[in-house]
Amino acid sequence: MKYDVAIIGAGPAGIMAAITAKQNGASVILIEKNEAIGRKILATGNGRCNITNKFAKVENYHGSSPEFIKNVLSAFDQHKTMKFFDDLGLILKEEDRGRMFPRTNQAASVVDILAHELERLKVDIKLNAEVKKIEKNDGWEIVLADGSKINSGKLILTTGGRAAHQFGSSGDGHFWMKNIGHKVEDIYAALVPLETKETWVTDVQGLKVEAQASFFVDEKLVSQKSGDLIFTHFGLSGPAIMSQAGIIAPFVGNKTVQVKLDFIGEKSAKELDEMIAKIFNSSGAKSTKNALVGLVPAKLIPIILHESKISDNKIAAEISKIQREEIVKNLKSLTLNISKLRPLKEAQVTRGGISTDEINSETLESKKIKGLYFAGEIMDVDGDSGGFNLQWAWSSGHLAGKSCTKWD
Ligand SMILES: Cc1cc2nc3c(=O)[nH]c(=O)nc-3n(C[C@H](O)[C@H](O)[C@H](O)COP(=O)(O)OP(=O)(O)OC[C@H]3O[C@@H](n4cnc5c(N)ncnc54)[C@H](O)[C@@H]3O)c2cc1C
Repeated sequence: MKYDVAIIGAGPAGIMAAITAKQNGASVILIEKNEAIGRKILATGNGRCNITNKFAKVENYHGSSPEFIKNVLSAFDQHKTMKFFDDLGLILKEEDRGRMFPRTNQAASVVDILAHELERLKVDIKLNAEVKKIEKNDGWEIVLADGSKINSGKLILTTGGRAAHQFGSSGDGHFWMKNIGHKVEDIYAALVPLETKETWVTDVQGLKVEAQASFFVDEKLVSQKSGDLIFTHFGLSGPAIMSQAGIIAPFVGNKTVQVKLDFIGEKSAKELDEMIAKIFNSSGAKSTKNALVGLVPAKLIPIILHESKISDNKIAAEISKIQREEIVKNLKSLTLNISKLRPLKEAQVTRGGISTDEINSETLESKKIKGLYFAGEIMDVDGDSGGFNLQWAWSSGHLAGKSCTKWD
């Protein structure tokens, strides 16, 4: 049998593409190498699945063409996504910053609902089926690892990026497209923790603080964000760090990349200096370490004092003005050197991928090869943390599934 549409990869983009193509009257086969669909969805949002974001807009995404991203998002935006899931009976709830989750707090509910819909629509699903090769003839021939072949008129590639490849996204789509002559932008981990040269981070591992993290490449400010950050045994993690990792990724290893942490963002250096002078004045008999416990988490103080070259037990009243200014400097811009990104395996999303220059933004069809479509993380588009990456998968999956069923 020759299917109208074959879709490789049953992640959120592939599932959405399959549902949409089938709803539009096509015969569809969804091919997945894992033993089940939506393996990565189960891991999203710490197992709760931050399914979309009520406030998603083009500014939440990264890629070479904002116009491309805008066209795709507007074809099936977050409101349509929420209605889609509501119609399927998945009740959603809103949390902070517009983040939407299933009411059940279980990513499995999302996968179950989608599986039921695929079943209801009678979409053919081939599991445990790793695609090894794709070949263009008058349509497509898809060769599986066991040597069997599947034929289709059109092909949608939804094999994902390279992030968290333990869930299946091992970059096969990028490999095939490079061989076919499609432009693939360099791949980096994004939404990923960072390793630092400073080994003192192990002394404070597990410490979660709110800070402003400013990243510098060769001393030039490239990105700045506030939020929670977590010290780990290897360096830094948490939203304020991970959300900026994709921006500095191309420079790590070949340029000097530093992060400056401001733990007291709400005060200027002068205001902070006055505040600390007041604390030292009223707690003069205490050790400097004990005098500062009301200002920042206790675990952080030895680091700040060490970086300021002050002994923990020095009496607060004995701190000179110059030493106090050092403390202020380190509280406002504690500097760490970034040595590495954590591996792609630990990343939530991939930066880079199939260049959007070669994809039609109205249809998601390749501009180079007729009958070939893309959806999801395989393309050179990635979103911030907060439900934006799944929204990209739903939007692009819907658009590819719909446009591939417009017959010439
Ligand atoms: C830990 C974690 C948490 C996350 N949390 C969130 C969140 O809460 N909200 C959010 O918006 N985003 C989140 N993301 C990001 C989001 O999950 C991804 O952006 C999204 O899953 C990408 O969808 P996709 O369909 O393009 O690719 P994927 O979900 O990666 O699916 C690709 C599929 O293709 C299959 N495949 C690959 N190669 C082959 C082959 N050769 N043959 C057959 N099948 C193949 C894979 O097995 C896989 O099932 C998270 C990611 C991770 C890793």
